[in-house]
Amino acid sequence: MKYYSTRNKKINFEFEEIFQRGLAPDGGLFIPKMIKRFSKSDLKKLEKLSYVDLTVEIIASYCYPTFKKNQIKKIVNKSYSKFRNKKVVNLVKVGKYNLLELYLGPTLAFKDIAMQCIGNIYEEFNKKTDLPTNIVVATSGDTGSAAISALNNRKNIKVFVLHPHNKISKMQRKIMTTIGSKNIYNIAIKGTFDDCQKIVKEMFADDIFRQTINMSGVNSINWARIMFQIVYYFYSFFKLKKNRINFSVPTGNFGDVYAGYMAKKMGLPIGKLIVATNENDILQRTINKGEYKPRKVKASLSPSMNIQVSSNFERLLFYALNKDNVKVNQLMNSLREKKYFKLNHKIIKKIKNDFLAFRVTDKQTKNMINKIYSNYKFFIDPHTATGFHAIDQSKKINTSVVLGTAHPYKFLETIQSVTRKKIKKPSQLKNLSNRKEKYDILNGEINNVKKYILNKQHEN
Ligand SMILES: *Cc1c(COP(=O)(O)O)cnc(C)c1O
Repeated sequence: MKYYSTRNKKINFEFEEIFQRGLAPDGGLFIPKMIKRFSKSDLKKLEKLSYVDLTVEIIASYCYPTFKKNQIKKIVNKSYSKFRNKKVVNLVKVGKYNLLELYLGPTLAFKDIAMQCIGNIYEEFNKKTDLPTNIVVATSGDTGSAAISALNNRKNIKVFVLHPHNKISKMQRKIMTTIGSKNIYNIAIKGTFDDCQKIVKEMFADDIFRQTINMSGVNSINWARIMFQIVYYFYSFFKLKKNRINFSVPTGNFGDVYAGYMAKKMGLPIGKLIVATNENDILQRTINKGEYKPRKVKASLSPSMNIQVSSNFERLLFYALNKDNVKVNQLMNSLREKKYFKLNHKIIKKIKNDFLAFRVTDKQTKNMINKIYSNYKFFIDPHTATGFHAIDQSKKINTSVVLGTAHPYKFLETIQSVTRKKIKKPSQLKNLSNRKEKYDILNGEINNVKKYILNKQHEN
């Protein structure tokens, strides 16, 4: 499979390159040149497979020729051995709702599903070279812990995780900062997640710096993240056994729900993808009104969705604009210069064909956590709660699956203050509270962060 950028279709890249780079050299996002399509009879065959085998069938063509099918199978098998449930993910009924539990991995959030595999892909690449890799990642709370769990103690890799200082949950911070591995550096940036993401994107765009440290990235702008997330959309369809299926997806950077869009393009009979945002509602505003205009980031009960610059949306634009990279460039230039862009009526209509979007306030989030607990004695985390609220709004409960993106224990303070009940600690978090936290606080100056990373190159 060859890849190109949303902003330039003339240059082709192999999987290995787009995996290592994360972001295209022109600042665009990587897109596979072709999309693997499954027919109805193909779907029938996929239905019988285990989660690991399903993953292999869905992603193999995207990784070829960097990896052959049998190599992919080894990587995936190894990656999912750490999950609490052999099925990797789990579709459960919560009253009338269908919930896909995606938080059975080592750091209790859906991001483990892609990240554990990504860790093992790095290991494969490292066998071929002695060159150390520096992975720089921005996190709104969960990407960081998933990356750390996947990459800690790996040879020849250093990981720098930037999180917004005091803007993630205590549990999210502790999971990241108590790991005690020498190759992991946690940096608290005085600013928002968008500030962290901007620093990482600018470092990628700086060719000299990127090459000096052999920089790589695992944020959701990396296609590999998206690719692994496509799989559970298929899995849900096979388990729910309806002719057509909708998904409600708690959304921030538009990565997870974009994976659903890919699944639809690959032939899965998806009706609507329902975007649930918190009060940082740029995606809801864009999908419903066509104006992509970042505002100031607001604190909320669902910190992993406190995002105003939703990077993966550029991938959807690429398709909505009929793969016209010149038009994508125009919109991105407008965003840079005027701080917004507008979509015309036709484009909005096209997007609405596949997506619905709802904004969920903190009050509605709390009410939903409460309602699900009092009706069904089931805990949901604040992110997942936005998905429940959106599905209620859409009136498509029966034929839909809500993606459960984090374990409620990760947001203990919120859940306990809302329900006044105790949650059982999941096995992954045993010993957590006794370990000492370690992180450095930096201001949002990109040069400070670069200096910090360069200084750490001598440590091992
Ligand atoms: C990352 C995250 C999201 C948002 O996912 P995107 O792919 O950025 O849209 C939602 N919920 C939780 C718990 C997360 O960690």
